Amino acid sequence: MPLLEPDRYFSRLSHVDIERDLLALGFRFVLLDIDNTILTRDTHEVPRDAGFWLAKARDAGITFCLVSNNWHEGVYQLANRLSLPIVAKAVKPLPPAFLRALGKIGATRAATVVIGDQLVTDVLGAHFLGMKAYLLAPLVEQDLPHTLLLRNFERLVMGERKPEGAGVPTACQPSEPADAAA
Ligand SMILES: [Mg+2]
Repeated sequence: MPLLEPDRYFSRLSHVDIERDLLALGFRFVLLDIDNTILTRDTHEVPRDAGFWLAKARDAGITFCLVSNNWHEGVYQLANRLSLPIVAKAVKPLPPAFLRALGKIGATRAATVVIGDQLVTDVLGAHFLGMKAYLLAPLVEQDLPHTLLLRNFERLVMGERKPEGAGVPTACQPSEPADAAA
């Protein structure tokens, strides 16, 4: 089912290699999901490695727009805190919000990858518009009831496919020199 099949599948955001998995493939723009992608659903925190990865990617010239189905004040506050543009109440996988996000950051679809933790919102939405999609394993198990139902479906689609970077210590630790990935 190619529409629902992520182009890549990673265990964590920080396991996406900024040079190899983004820049070398021509991706200069990322449409980034929020809940359970960069913000934990349970404690509402941005994990340290995710925050560090974001900063590093922006330094490398990647432009981001947050795209979230969430409509609560918290997602706007997060966007503000990270100084990132946001399209909330997105109704992913439908195309309008993705198109609005592309417009906000002046991105072309070919130079953009969608990164998120859900097949039926992030991956399907990207593929509807012919964009590539990187699926992430959700940050935490906790999620909204309807999302948890969808997880069973995702397990069915993904089968035994293991995320890249599983079991590997998180990259982009603050102690790591900025040019360590080079
Ligand atoms: Mg999500």
